[in-house]
Amino acid sequence: MFTTAVAYALPLRDRFRGITVREGLLVRGAAGWAEWSPFAEYTHPEIDAWWAATVEAATIGFPAPVRDRVPVNVTVPAVGPQRAHDIVAASGCRTAKVKVAEPGQSFADDLARVEAVRDALGTDGRVRVDVNGHWDVDVAFRCLRELARFGLEYAEQPCASIDELAELRRRLARSGVEVPIAADESIRRSGDPERVVARQAADVAVLKVQPLGGVRACIALAERLGLPVVVSSALESSVGLAAGVALAAALPELPFACGLNTATMFTRDVTTAPLVARAGEIEVRAVEVAETGGWQAGPAARDAWLERLATVPGARGEGL
Ligand SMILES: [Mg+2]
Repeated sequence: MFTTAVAYALPLRDRFRGITVREGLLVRGAAGWAEWSPFAEYTHPEIDAWWAATVEAATIGFPAPVRDRVPVNVTVPAVGPQRAHDIVAASGCRTAKVKVAEPGQSFADDLARVEAVRDALGTDGRVRVDVNGHWDVDVAFRCLRELARFGLEYAEQPCASIDELAELRRRLARSGVEVPIAADESIRRSGDPERVVARQAADVAVLKVQPLGGVRACIALAERLGLPVVVSSALESSVGLAAGVALAAALPELPFACGLNTATMFTRDVTTAPLVARAGEIEVRAVEVAETGGWQAGPAARDAWLERLATVPGARGEGL
């Protein structure tokens, strides 16, 4: 079914979720290039969903778009305030997602970073924070009450569990703190995304194509959830990002800027025309892989990826 498989390794400008180099596998099928890049610590059954997304992209491609550009946010890693300000100012984006609660850093670091980002965007820009589940309910309540003065569009996954998100959301509402809650890990890693809705744990759902098994699976999930959605990347190369852009382009409603401008976080890409924003928007288009450019990880890395892939049910005998 697939004609080619190549491993990539892309260095990051700033450390992000604990890594400095992003690695993955690109395969080519009848519909074009597709990416399979579950993070190293992921295993079954999660990596099987990632592969389902790869198969969709390589074999049948994406549903028809209803828009030809998608608005995106700039992502601000857990860097110092000056660097945060510079990243936002250089991006051209009007929405920023700021990583907070980085292990080893203090809440004072978070406050300084969010303040710098608000300063860079001005009062009419949108600022969201991503906590990656690092706070318990008490800490989340205190921190969000403080951060609310910068005017937050929403807080993404402030606590780890769906029950904590639900409790935090009630407490914020009771206290008149206006910070909507977005669920990310609770949607893609809990095994039961609908529980987020049943428990009234979030106002917004973050959807990522590879972890949720493909563009069509995400469209169906968005319909079942009935929440406004934000499309985000899993820090893919431009080939993987194209699937996220296709999802954002196909959704009937797109009320938020998407977290898809992450190719800017790499020092190189797998294509000569990376999917990066111009004036805060990414064009909806296919991505062609470059023959050269120093992105290839070599045969040993490719073999390791194929070995990992061979453990995915249904992935054997694909001609790789
Ligand atoms: Mg997140």
